[in-house]
Amino acid sequence: MALLTIEKKPTVDVLPAAQREAILADPGFGRHFTDHMVTITWTEGRGWHDGRLVPFGPLSLHPAANVLHYAQEVFEGLKAYRLPDGTTALFRPETNARRFQHSARRMAMPELPVTTFLQACEAHLRQDHAWVPEHGTEKSLYLRPFMVGTEPGLGMRPAAEYLFALIASPAAAYFAGDVEPLSIWVCEDRVRAVSGGVGDAKTGGNYAASLLAQTEAAARGCDQVAYLDAVEHRWVEELGAMNLFFVYEGRAGEPPTIVTPPLTGSLLAGVTRDSVLTLARELGWDTREAPVSVDQWQADAAEGTLTEVFACGTAAVLTPVGVVKRAGAEWTQGDGAPGRVTLKLRRMLLDIQRGLAGDRHGWVHRVR
Ligand SMILES: *Cc1c(COP(=O)(O)O)cnc(C)c1O
Repeated sequence: MALLTIEKKPTVDVLPAAQREAILADPGFGRHFTDHMVTITWTEGRGWHDGRLVPFGPLSLHPAANVLHYAQEVFEGLKAYRLPDGTTALFRPETNARRFQHSARRMAMPELPVTTFLQACEAHLRQDHAWVPEHGTEKSLYLRPFMVGTEPGLGMRPAAEYLFALIASPAAAYFAGDVEPLSIWVCEDRVRAVSGGVGDAKTGGNYAASLLAQTEAAARGCDQVAYLDAVEHRWVEELGAMNLFFVYEGRAGEPPTIVTPPLTGSLLAGVTRDSVLTLARELGWDTREAPVSVDQWQADAAEGTLTEVFACGTAAVLTPVGVVKRAGAEWTQGDGAPGRVTLKLRRMLLDIQRGLAGDRHGWVHRVR
């Protein structure tokens, strides 16, 4: 597949180094953006064209653009890290590129070739490499590729024009304190996604649909919502933007068992989820993709057999669950502190991402 040309029109007006360093000292999450962005256009008949690396700035959209009314939108999230030798690396970007295609297919949008997705990430990182935080911190540069239907018109059909864009934002640890355990509200009335729907696509509407439940959880003092399946309201699926794992520590000398809900079509196939399953299998641990009911969760936690629960995703890496609340019940997971298995897997993953441990799977994609 021929490479798309990405024409470079860099800004003459980059943020002064001192200001950039001040932002990198305390970047938060998703609050600051780098100097440039990449845009690529798709039109029916012509396909992908007009790749550009341009100064970061507002997009101009027709008020009748498809995305503003019928929400043809998909996105991705991946991180760039600084390796010990100073080079920048992305973690498993091809997996994000393929998932971007999967999401686009589900939303009746054109698929961006994997090579073009990688080209866009690399062109951006080569230009804005100074925004990748130094090695030795848990900071990173979060890349946010997205695509929207731009064709004007209120007719209800897939757009004939799309804009792909990639922006980037420096990121501290996603949650304050990072390994600070999360409190979870198990939502038994509102649902996030239904099998046959779009829950396994990274499309904006899923997140809009989750905001009300998230607000209600916050009012109950919880950080995040755990969603159940939409049919029986019984089986645990995932959080708003993270997959869930349940850890059963083995008896003396036995390896732990880790369980995560299967990919039924209503939850997102996380790259972190897949990486955790792979690492745990290699450690010789028993890994299972099996349904877990909320009643089982509560009972096993009470009995003490369920020793740890953690959430995982690119933004937050691995984060332990501390307190769980549902209508009429509340419990503390283990002693409420981060568990051994969670911390071990988290460390292994961070060490691979940051180039501190061997990369047996070709997960670390260096950008030269
Ligand atoms: C992005 C996302 C995840 C995590 O996926 P990663 O590839 O690990 O970042 C999990 N659930 C939802 C709903 C998501 O949007």
